[in-house]
Amino acid sequence: MGSLILSPPRDWSAVTLREMRRHVGRRSAEAPDSSACHWFGADFHDAGENFCRTCAEKLVDQKFAADPARFVYLYGDCDTDEERYDAAIDGGWSTEHDSPPYCVTCSEPLDGTLTDTGVDDEIDALTDGAGPQTPHDWAMLDVAMINTRGEDMTLAEYVAQPAPKDPLSAKIHATTVDIWQRVAPVVIADMRKGDAR
Ligand SMILES: [Zn+2]
Repeated sequence: MGSLILSPPRDWSAVTLREMRRHVGRRSAEAPDSSACHWFGADFHDAGENFCRTCAEKLVDQKFAADPARFVYLYGDCDTDEERYDAAIDGGWSTEHDSPPYCVTCSEPLDGTLTDTGVDDEIDALTDGAGPQTPHDWAMLDVAMINTRGEDMTLAEYVAQPAPKDPLSAKIHATTVDIWQRVAPVVIADMRKGDAR
């Protein structure tokens, strides 16, 4: 590891939350676009599994071929493949998940946001050890930080604010502080590396 030679020297304690969010956004810019997330109603297939559209359609083809009568019982008569897909495949929009969704068949990353638990786990995973490694990791960090504020304050300034009085704002404030305290060291370390490159 070479030593860091910064010119002009930058005051890393003066980086604002908004600058850090921008950095995370830039680092995730090369991540491939994620595909829409699809799933099935419980009677047709395990509702807890997520699929990309291509794999969902293949599963419909397989299940229809294996037992056409059951398909008709569940969804009625469909004249074309497309009608069958539309009848059986659910989703196609972004929903909340406890962990970043992937297609169970082909492992392609799918669109989605994270629950509070999902955010917590993901930030733990991405701030542990080496930090985010790939554009996809950075994109996941970006997703995990979706509800943090991008204020023009440093983390220290943000933390020093009095917590808001009403319970909802107080909760948002506490969550934001918690997330930023875990994420900021990783983001600033990466910004420093960028300056040294
Ligand atoms: Zn797939």
